[in-house]
Amino acid sequence: MSLKSWREALKASPYGPATFVLAGAVATSAWLFVAVAAMPPSQPQAGQTVAAAPVVTAPKTLWEAIKVRGGDTLARILTSRGHASLTVHQIVESGPAARALTSIRAGATLNVATDPQGELREISYSPDPYRVVSVRRTDDGAFESTVIEKPIITVTRFAEGMVEDSLFAAGKRAGVSDTVILEMADAFGYDIDFALEVQQGDTFRVLYEEILVDGVRVRDGQVLATEFVNNGNSYQAVYYTTSDGHSGYYTPDGLAMHRAFLRSPVDFARISSRFSRARLHPVLHTMRAHKGVDYAAARGTPVKATADGSIEYAGNKGGYGRVVILRHGNQQSTLYAHLDHFAKNVRSGGRVKQGQVIGYVGSSGLASGPHLHYEFRVSGAHVDPLKIKTAQAKPIAATEKAAFLATAGRLVAMLDSYSGRTAVAQNSVLPAHSADL
Ligand SMILES: [Zn+2]
Repeated sequence: MSLKSWREALKASPYGPATFVLAGAVATSAWLFVAVAAMPPSQPQAGQTVAAAPVVTAPKTLWEAIKVRGGDTLARILTSRGHASLTVHQIVESGPAARALTSIRAGATLNVATDPQGELREISYSPDPYRVVSVRRTDDGAFESTVIEKPIITVTRFAEGMVEDSLFAAGKRAGVSDTVILEMADAFGYDIDFALEVQQGDTFRVLYEEILVDGVRVRDGQVLATEFVNNGNSYQAVYYTTSDGHSGYYTPDGLAMHRAFLRSPVDFARISSRFSRARLHPVLHTMRAHKGVDYAAARGTPVKATADGSIEYAGNKGGYGRVVILRHGNQQSTLYAHLDHFAKNVRSGGRVKQGQVIGYVGSSGLASGPHLHYEFRVSGAHVDPLKIKTAQAKPIAATEKAAFLATAGRLVAMLDSYSGRTAVAQNSVLPAHSADL
């Protein structure tokens, strides 16, 4: 390995800011060591050993790992260390790659190399976990900038667990991030009401991607296949991209999981009041029909549009407080009341996609505490949102059914083969999968 690639490998470490400082410190001494190791073996002469050579090798540059603080700019950092404003200008203007240095993040680390005369030789900075921007002084005194893309590896992971208290807690015990749990909930969101129906003893299995940069986990990727056993009923979903580029979850025999309406507008909220013809109103203390479903959730919990539609109304309306009314096809409309505030760009006349966040749970209007009041109307008449049965979306096209079944079969077989190999809560890395999975 050359000195250059060693140095880059070290600098490219996607460790957090704290460890990056450490890596920088280690690196300073490591340069010297690596320089020695990389030197071509010279011809040993009498009385001289090759190993003696490194002792006289002095580093040409000294690296400093500078932790970027709030309000810091490249100019402020460099001029406070005695570098000229002209140098800062030259660095920033050295090429498109150097533009990342004009907006350095607080908490990130800026690595700066100076020579024994105090002249700035090189700067390196990671604007994100995937890249390192490097600006070096050339022999003619100008600067040149490059971007080094770090190698990204995708591995497949398997995990399974059992719900004891909450699905998130079960996920945590199985070593699964909330992102994966939410994705699973999205996949099954049309079949299982995660607010209402998840219970103790339910189990899940999931095959998902994990993204590694330089061998370190950066984030979780796509859920590839998953199974949820709810109250003894097994639901399976596989992720598939059709030949025309549409991706989504399907049952293993090729029916889309997607339906016209989501089962619930709030993820993992508790239903605090159901649809009824007559109930005692908690604020008015009179008997009134409850024409919707209430979801108790913390203030600020995102509220999602349960279907594609146009925004008939977004504003204040009496007891509803801040409310959004969406109009969908087939004379159907949905209503989301007591919002704390609206999501950006949600205003009367606009359009929303299914699952898009339209506002946040609050207690505006006539509400005893933060909750979402959700109504569903067909031709203007209220119906119970929990009893809506919507048709299943279209199946995989006949022309690619065979290809789909092959992929789905392989994924489900993986779910089965890795299941139960260890204790109930487990998480194991599988060999990197091929791109066609
Ligand atoms: Zn209500």
